[in-house]
Amino acid sequence: MVATIVSASFLILIVIQMNRKSFLLSVIEDGKREIAIGNIAAKESLPDIDKGTSTRNQFKRRENISDMNRSISDGKTLNVHVVPHTHDDVGWLKTVDEYFWGRNTSIQDACVNDILDSVVSALLDNPFRTFTYVETKFFSMWWERQTDAVKESVRFLVSNNQLHFANGGWCMHDEATTHFMGMIDQTTLGHAFLKRELGVVPRVGWQLDPFGHSSTQASLLTSKVGFDALYFGRIDYQDLEIRKLRKDCEGLWDPSKKRNNDNDAETQSNAVFWGLTGSYGGNYGAPSGFCFDVNCKEDNDIFNDTPDVLKQKIIDFLHEIRLQSDQTRGNHIMLTMGSDFQYRKASKNFANLDILIGKIRDYQLSEQLDVPFMFGPRFERINVFYSSPEYYTECKYKELQTGIPRERNNFASTNSSTNTVNTKEGKEEMISYSLKKDDFFSIFGQ
Ligand SMILES: [Zn+2]
Repeated sequence: MVATIVSASFLILIVIQMNRKSFLLSVIEDGKREIAIGNIAAKESLPDIDKGTSTRNQFKRRENISDMNRSISDGKTLNVHVVPHTHDDVGWLKTVDEYFWGRNTSIQDACVNDILDSVVSALLDNPFRTFTYVETKFFSMWWERQTDAVKESVRFLVSNNQLHFANGGWCMHDEATTHFMGMIDQTTLGHAFLKRELGVVPRVGWQLDPFGHSSTQASLLTSKVGFDALYFGRIDYQDLEIRKLRKDCEGLWDPSKKRNNDNDAETQSNAVFWGLTGSYGGNYGAPSGFCFDVNCKEDNDIFNDTPDVLKQKIIDFLHEIRLQSDQTRGNHIMLTMGSDFQYRKASKNFANLDILIGKIRDYQLSEQLDVPFMFGPRFERINVFYSSPEYYTECKYKELQTGIPRERNNFASTNSSTNTVNTKEGKEEMISYSLKKDDFFSIFGQ
């Protein structure tokens, strides 16, 4: 009798779970359709990024924001996408409420309420600044306490391409032990909130902090959710070293293990773009020596530097950029400028970033930087600008649209690729990424 009751209960539970799964997937499918529509709209409204327009004097031309924050695709320019962001754990060393209100600083000095107040204010101060937020649980706690006027300001920042949401789940879930039902649940909860309150549908996966990454994340929570790309910080350290040498720190990921044919059209079309954050250092922070947050141990501020000291720091910064650009392919790299609970005093971070970006432009304009000497023969110019994960992804996809060959788990051949393509500007190196199939948990050599 007891066994019958247990069996019946178990069956009912399975039916409930199946129904819930199909409901949640249908919600996500709705989002995906909207993303598809959104993508078309975004492409149509994109500025013409192929004209190689000079973006100097950017901070004087407030009326044309897209000029300031756009890439240059002339084949000679390295585009450096600066992506200010914070990663706010929804419960780690402290409770969610403690993190939100900044209590118990003896455990960790972190206050998400201050972060969001501060970021919104700093974005309103300068229309070229951008910021990427991730954890919808914290955003919802903050949002529900704001006045209508503040909410309008936030909606303006979203419409002005300044405030972006990546991932957009209730939190940034783990990928190792998490059940896929929980991953769907929390992603759905966060996306539903952002859609309802801001009309936002996130387009990019942002798994910066988890230790290892599963094919389930690439398939169900990236491709099926409708994301255009998936970015993360950590992979096996030996795998990372090999990838740096082979320029494989970004690539394409076949999200399904069911398809076996490398050349299968469906396999090709379902591949998602993936990339490492944190300048490929195994994390997601700023390049070494350029963390400008109050949480940073060292004082890296550049706004009080003498001209000589400032120039040397700019050269050091470009050296870091050069190292990163040598570890991937194409004319774009992304700098994830932020880390755990950073931007509590966002005006300080942005004041430094404004100077960094502005000075690199000024120095090139006044020929105080010999970029071809530092970056030759690949690049003659460096275009550093505030950007977002979405725009970075669009630029990467644009490079991929040149009809590149796609390969899978064949790193040697991609490394030795010498294919070229004729363009209207002349001959350019054809960009080729490996197509990865398994997950990023595997230990190198096994
Ligand atoms: Zn975390």
